[in-house]
Amino acid sequence: MPTPIEMASNLIFESSRIVVFTGAGISTESGIPDFRSPGGIWSKYDPSDFTFQRFLSSETAREKYWQMSTEFYNTVKSVKPNAAHLAVAELEKMGKLDCVITQNIDGLHQMAGCSAKRVIELHGTALAVSCLDCHKRYDRDLIQKRISDGDRVPRCDVCNGLLKPATISFGQTMPEKETAEAMHRSAQCDLFIVIGSSLVVQPAASMPLIAKEKGAKLVIINRDDTPYDHLADVRIHDSAGAVLPEILQRVRALS
Ligand code: NAD
Ligand code: ZN
Repeated sequence: MPTPIEMASNLIFESSRIVVFTGAGISTESGIPDFRSPGGIWSKYDPSDFTFQRFLSSETAREKYWQMSTEFYNTVKSVKPNAAHLAVAELEKMGKLDCVITQNIDGLHQMAGCSAKRVIELHGTALAVSCLDCHKRYDRDLIQKRISDGDRVPRCDVCNGLLKPATISFGQTMPEKETAEAMHRSAQCDLFIVIGSSLVVQPAASMPLIAKEKGAKLVIINRDDTPYDHLADVRIHDSAGAVLPEILQRVRALS
């Protein structure tokens, strides 16, 4: 009987249009906490304080948002991609990767070597800031500099609108183009690999189902259970950074 790692390696070897779907769990080994694990971001902050409606509601709420977000961004700036991100980038070099659909906002897939055009960021990026009114985009470092100089709630240079990191908060509409593209790619792939996502945030969590319904194989690599474990062809309950290098090594040996 092959082990789950051998089974996952065989599926990758046999596939040519792989969609990798990632969540916060792929970045925990880089040092960015996820939301829902013990010690995760939601054990420190109350999620209801950071909804989009709250952000719009008052200057105090916005100030609090920027404080939390600055803390998150400082962490993002100080970390590097880990072995799991590098393994995903290697799939692209092998010509097997159709795209990465990520819920992450940390930019680590691109930093690991995935080309930007193959990374679909469903929840936006923490590396940019945008104006909620005129949609002008700013480099995040530029705005962080203003904040460290004492501007607690930054505003747009052009229209004085509210600036917010270019991420999708709870209560904010999902980006249409990215969501449609991700649905489309999920329906076309021959293998769908989930790495480090609890698969509870919609509509992102419906993508493994779409892939499976269209006949793709499904591999789930996640430390905790997910609602779709019973549908997976291969289920690995382990750390992504530990298992993915071993899986890639086997794929190389098969190639
Ligand atoms: P989540 O917190 O709901 O789930 C993360 C899952 O990853 C958990 O089930 C956990 O068991 C698993 N996990 C943690 N470390 C792992 C590891 N090393 N190897 C394998 N599995 C591991 O996160 P989610 O599903 O991504 O959804 C929540 C939201 O969190 C997303 O919308 C995302 O935007 C946001 N988020 C992003 C970052 C980031 O960009 N790095 C960090 C925190 C939260
Ligand atoms: Zn503006």
